[in-house]
Amino acid sequence: MQLITDLVKIKQIAEEKEVENDHFQSFLKHQNEKQIDSLIQELNESITPQIDCTNCGNCCKSLMIHITSEETVQLSNHLNISVDQIKEQYIEQSEQGQMIMNTVPCHFLTNTSCSIYEHRFTECREFPHLHKPHFIRRLFSTMRYYEICPIIFNVVEQLKIDLEY
Ligand code: SF4
Ligand code: SF4
Repeated sequence: MQLITDLVKIKQIAEEKEVENDHFQSFLKHQNEKQIDSLIQELNESITPQIDCTNCGNCCKSLMIHITSEETVQLSNHLNISVDQIKEQYIEQSEQGQMIMNTVPCHFLTNTSCSIYEHRFTECREFPHLHKPHFIRRLFSTMRYYEICPIIFNVVEQLKIDLEY
């Protein structure tokens, strides 16, 4: 399958496929979880390396990033400013008391790439979570980003083909 990475095109296709994707999610919920996880792992491993996140950065414009205390220290060391300054400039507390980035798009997004890429947060590294098991239990949260993330978009479209949907 020819991968599509043009964000405008992906958004347009996502609008056209809204109903199809709703039905596909219902279909997936009735499939064997292990079989779907295995297919998703394979697709993730083949498709993700073909997509350059540093040339996209689209998730950084919409994700709410959680940050750990350890990560504030690492960032403080990297930026050579104090942890207190990091907290003051970049972080606020969520209603649940967790530390979250205080802007969306993220402070560290420069054009399409992350200015702290080698030091980005765990949550950034793990998105879009396709390497994790239980894909069909995370359909809602994953499909929210189908129109935003070229990795999710292409994995889901190839999954349809593999399942002869
Ligand atoms: S830290 Fe980097 S990867 Fe994470 S949201 Fe911000 S710009 Fe994106
Ligand atoms: S994870 Fe998806 S949305 Fe984020 S930068 Fe990579 S391809 Fe773009």
